Amino acid sequence: MIKIENYINGQLVAPQMGNYLDNVEPATGRVYSLVPESTESDLELAIQAAEAAKENWANTSLEKRAEILCRLADLIDINADELAKAEAIDNGKAITFAKAVDIYRSSANIRFFAHAGTQFSSESHAMGNLAINYTLRDPIGIVGCISPWNFPLYLFTWKIAPALACGNVVIAKPSEVTPMTAYLFSKLCIEAGLPAGVLNILHGTGGSIGGPITTHPKIKAVSFTGGSATGAHITKATAGMFKKLSLELGGKNPTVVFADCDFDETVSEVVRAAFSNQGQICLCGSRIYIERPIYDKFKATFIEKVQQINIGDPLAASTQHGATVSEDHMNKILSYIELAQQEGGTILTGGKRRTLDGRCKDGFFIEPTVIEGLSNQCHTNQEEIFGPVCTIMPFDTEQEAIKLANGTQYGLASSVWTNDLKRAHRVAKQIEAGIVWINCWLLRDLRTPFGGVKSSGVGREGGLEAMRFFTEPKNVCVKY
Ligand code: NAD
Repeated sequence: MIKIENYINGQLVAPQMGNYLDNVEPATGRVYSLVPESTESDLELAIQAAEAAKENWANTSLEKRAEILCRLADLIDINADELAKAEAIDNGKAITFAKAVDIYRSSANIRFFAHAGTQFSSESHAMGNLAINYTLRDPIGIVGCISPWNFPLYLFTWKIAPALACGNVVIAKPSEVTPMTAYLFSKLCIEAGLPAGVLNILHGTGGSIGGPITTHPKIKAVSFTGGSATGAHITKATAGMFKKLSLELGGKNPTVVFADCDFDETVSEVVRAAFSNQGQICLCGSRIYIERPIYDKFKATFIEKVQQINIGDPLAASTQHGATVSEDHMNKILSYIELAQQEGGTILTGGKRRTLDGRCKDGFFIEPTVIEGLSNQCHTNQEEIFGPVCTIMPFDTEQEAIKLANGTQYGLASSVWTNDLKRAHRVAKQIEAGIVWINCWLLRDLRTPFGGVKSSGVGREGGLEAMRFFTEPKNVCVKY
């Protein structure tokens, strides 16, 4: 049984209290490793290490920081097969998806921010002949980065890379549900020569170590990705502490399909948007609105394609749809499918747990599920299910589609499918979301602002937004 270790002061160490949690492989339902249940005493060690490393790292040249980060990115690429396999075992996602998306993006994140660090510049504001203002952008110091289980290494690196590139020292906590790749990553940090204490990785639950990280007085900024309820909890727990908070939270994203779309491409992409990563992407389009003239044709083709998704062992190269992340999460998703039927919905395809043969016979697999006949206001259409479940609904006018799309508390992402250029811009402008994709989904440029509005979050990640978050601006005004 693998015993995962914390990474503190450049070393792999056991948790101070010696407590561990079971780590389950979702595809088999079996415990296959142990995760440290870290506590405040581990955090204190990490804080001491970070304090000791802070000044040196902040004063390390941009080129040197970039060099170390690029070495880390290279090591991820060199170990991509091992990391993809670890991610597939730990999370239940298909190994081909893990390699092409998770691991590919993890090294891309680090390389992108390594370069961003060398290109980042600050502003100056001249006041005629009177004075000049310039903005210093210094590292904040010790920052906390907390990430979820759906893209374990991808979202972990998305946070720590800009934090480190800006010269901060980091205390990071991956999800206790999927800790393995962050653990493997800590070994790569040692191999890459990242100085001790610059990054410290503590494993454990939100209660035992996540909460203490967010409220520790020496941690001046917290970048969090996870559920909206946890985000609200962190906001309350840190109220009055004047920390910088970046909150990337849940979504219930609309997909709006107009009758003039490129039909075949749209259906394929809308399937991908709904079910990639077993529907466990904050950006997945789970409410699909279809203009009435093509509703029946779209529905038939959509269902046909959904039924072709290959459910299987995450470790098989042919698998497109693996296991959901845990038994609890599987049960939550199944309870929503039950609720959808009580709310009057009709299951058009899927709707059940799938039992596989062989080593995956006890795995947490759920069939891709499409539901019809629900109102926009019902729980199924209002609450984030975060699984392979989507609803389809017809609409008649553009204004109605926008109203339906905006009709939840969330506002993370959306996609709009049309060949009418004017309408595309008009609708994009009116949708309440941090991201609108037109005739595409999950096409990502790492320079763009990433994040949500309403209950989907506060602040933006990506590109300059992340560099600004992880630095403290100071205006210096010099009179001539
Ligand atoms: P979660 O909120 O349960 O946990 C996220 C992380 O926070 C985990 O590491 C967890 O241990 C930690 N945590 C839990 N309670 C905490 C507390 N009180 N204080 C500090 N840390 C705490 O979310 P999850 O179930 O891991 O992930 C799924 C959610 O994440 C979904 O809602 C999904 O939409 C969201 N998500 C959002 C984005 C985005 O970019 N907006 C990306 C991916 C996932």
